[in-house]
Amino acid sequence: MIRLICTLLAAAALAGCASRGPAGLDLDTSITAVSQSSRVRAVVVHYTTVDDAKSLHLLSQGKVSAHYLLDLDGRAYRLVDENRAAWHAGASSWYGNIAMNSTSIGIEIVNPGWTEGEDGKPVWHPYDARQVRALTILLRDIIQRHGIAAENVVGHSDIAPQRKVDPGPLFPWKALADAGIGRWYNEAGAAEHLARLQAEGTPDVAWFQKQLQRLGYACPQHGTLDRETINTLAAFQMHYRPALHDGQPDAETAAIMLAML
Ligand SMILES: [Zn+2]
Repeated sequence: MIRLICTLLAAAALAGCASRGPAGLDLDTSITAVSQSSRVRAVVVHYTTVDDAKSLHLLSQGKVSAHYLLDLDGRAYRLVDENRAAWHAGASSWYGNIAMNSTSIGIEIVNPGWTEGEDGKPVWHPYDARQVRALTILLRDIIQRHGIAAENVVGHSDIAPQRKVDPGPLFPWKALADAGIGRWYNEAGAAEHLARLQAEGTPDVAWFQKQLQRLGYACPQHGTLDRETINTLAAFQMHYRPALHDGQPDAETAAIMLAML
């Protein structure tokens, strides 16, 4: 009976039974392998520095893109299908992976970033509560569907600390961690490490460079506090100790690193 139906259908449609590939290929997609995983390993968050309309135009018509855009009101746009690569990461590295565009989902959030204050110092702009609410829902869903590890929920500055400072020190990493999203450190453990380090002294630059590398950051390992190392340390601090992100090695930064073992 089935053969008869197939024959009839084939005759009618001039196509083979269960064949859905390009013309001329006998492709059977009825069996799916049990051993497989998502190609998506990370989520990268950004801010756009421009308003809703410009962000939408730039990310949909320009030479850069993101899978999702959250506007000022917290409305989410999906601009690129999750199965395809968006062009948001640029030259970057995380745990040695430099193909971040191909292995991550990019989320852009409308936020001005920073502007120069009257004293000449940068003034950072906070995220709207509606954006944070939308982001929490979106991240939780993406993480769950793709099985993304906590340490792979990152900011652009984490994966490109020499070029980028987004999503900035006001990005709610701590609030997201409290909601079970992303990597955080054991705060009680950090307090204990800090008390000990304040008595013993802060570790040397080589130690900080090693820790940064262990925690995923691309960082020189030569033991000198050069501009690259300062930028990488600042990126780490913006994420985990946003109150002070001057890129200088200090006891509190070391204590946080130790509490991330
Ligand atoms: Zn960015």
